[in-house]
Amino acid sequence: MSRLLEAHDISAQYGKVRAVNNVSLHMDQGQVITVIGANGAGKSTLLNTLMGALPVSGRAQGRIIYRGQDISRMPVEERVAEGLCLVPEKRELFTSMSVQDNLLLGGFRQYHRRVAGWRDTLDQVYQLFPRLLERRDQRAGTLSGGERQMLAVGRAMMSKPTLLMLDEPSLGLAPRVVQEVFRTILRLRETGVSILLVEQNARAALQAADYGYVLEMGEVAMAGESERLRADPGVAQSYLGFG
Ligand code: ATP
Repeated sequence: MSRLLEAHDISAQYGKVRAVNNVSLHMDQGQVITVIGANGAGKSTLLNTLMGALPVSGRAQGRIIYRGQDISRMPVEERVAEGLCLVPEKRELFTSMSVQDNLLLGGFRQYHRRVAGWRDTLDQVYQLFPRLLERRDQRAGTLSGGERQMLAVGRAMMSKPTLLMLDEPSLGLAPRVVQEVFRTILRLRETGVSILLVEQNARAALQAADYGYVLEMGEVAMAGESERLRADPGVAQSYLGFG
């Protein structure tokens, strides 16, 4: 397997507040990796740093190597063009537009470059999420939480990402819908997309991922194969709860 992403000593801060401290991680093409951690551990900040999309108040250091290329200083739109894609925690859908128009905007990069295939990708999204097809003319703002999540992932797929970063895809969803979202993640992986998943739902995330990182107060407290993390008593006690 070839190396897709290496992040070396990533730190990020907002003003004087340090949110991420010397985090290193790596993943191979085709892998699903997860970063788990409590509220405020720095997970979203880490994703935004990898995407080059920190808020203006934020500053980051460290080296990000993507497919052998140093992208640390690359602007976000170039990272998108290189195949990185982030589904942020606030899904940022265009609520007054239809489901289908949201999807087509996600494929804008393909449109723009006149790359053939956006219709096929749209079909693929609808195959993966028949619910979106049923509701393609409905305004995005009127979708249920689970449907919005599907739309956010579907829209990301429209840009044909190589590396898809998902910020808490299970947030606020009913348990049954959470299962559906994680099944989707595994199906996406079968299409060849590599996935970096940030989650508070550690149990589900470690089931879906090959490898996991535990983030505590901005630092990697532990890293390892998902199975090993799941079996770790400390991880179980702090992150897996009962049941
Ligand atoms: P959650 O699971 O609650 O979303 P998280 O692990 O994603 O948390 P971050 O959102 O990355 O954590 O936040 C890490 C720290 O940085 C927190 O202390 C947070 O208050 C702070 N922080 C995040 N965004 C900003 C910002 N725009 N300005 C100032 N501080 C911020």
